[in-house]
Amino acid sequence: MLEDIIAGGASALGISLPKDAPDRYRRYFEALSEANRSFNLTAILGEDEAARLHLLDSLGLFRAAELRGRIIDVGTGGGLPGVALKIARPGLHMTLLDATEKKIAFLDGLTLRLGIPCRCVAARAEELGRTPEHREMYDFAVSRAVARLNVLAELCMPFVSVGGKFLAMKAAGSDEEISEATTAIEKLGGRLSDTQEYIIPGTDIVRRVVIVEKLASTPDAYPRRWAAINKKAL
Ligand code: SAH
Repeated sequence: MLEDIIAGGASALGISLPKDAPDRYRRYFEALSEANRSFNLTAILGEDEAARLHLLDSLGLFRAAELRGRIIDVGTGGGLPGVALKIARPGLHMTLLDATEKKIAFLDGLTLRLGIPCRCVAARAEELGRTPEHREMYDFAVSRAVARLNVLAELCMPFVSVGGKFLAMKAAGSDEEISEATTAIEKLGGRLSDTQEYIIPGTDIVRRVVIVEKLASTPDAYPRRWAAINKKAL
């Protein structure tokens, strides 16, 4: 059962969950499955797989950093990892960002119903990252399954305040992707500080969080327009 997989998996990852978390994960999973019938929110998974591959995978981020303060989940889709993190730590100030209005409308309603209100924003990251309300306003930018690291860094780094971190969830075999992104990260004011690997409990899947520290402000030139980013990644 989902509740048991989450409870066991969280403790295997060394994460303590609040009392009401298992019930909220259950309701989140039900809402995702229901919404998936009318539009594609996330890869449709059975309950056990969703518990491991979506929820526990997201909780693995806590192994990479002590998340606190203001967090933005860039390209959150059906709410991953942001909603999973907010259920585990309701005190986090979570912003969920996605370019698709429909997904954001779903998340807005869902997070209110679950009692874990998140700020839900429908916009493109490369546009939102240029607005004073969001630029360098976050302690952490997190992201899963949105783009290659060199592109993702340009989308995410502008949101992070100096002293904050950008955490990218990647597969274990991402060495080449990481080395390819080193220059981009530096141009954006960051430094690749570390990677943290973990095994998703109950599977043999090794996942990796790429940890980037923000050392200096991102130059005004970034993020560029999507056409430019896409044409030539930094
Ligand atoms: N993070 C989720 C969803 C991954 S799918 C998960 O791991 O399950 C990628 C999502 O990123 C899609 O929902 C897409 O709408 C969003 N996305 C892609 N490019 C984006 C951009 N430039 N700005 C905002 N959202 C973007």
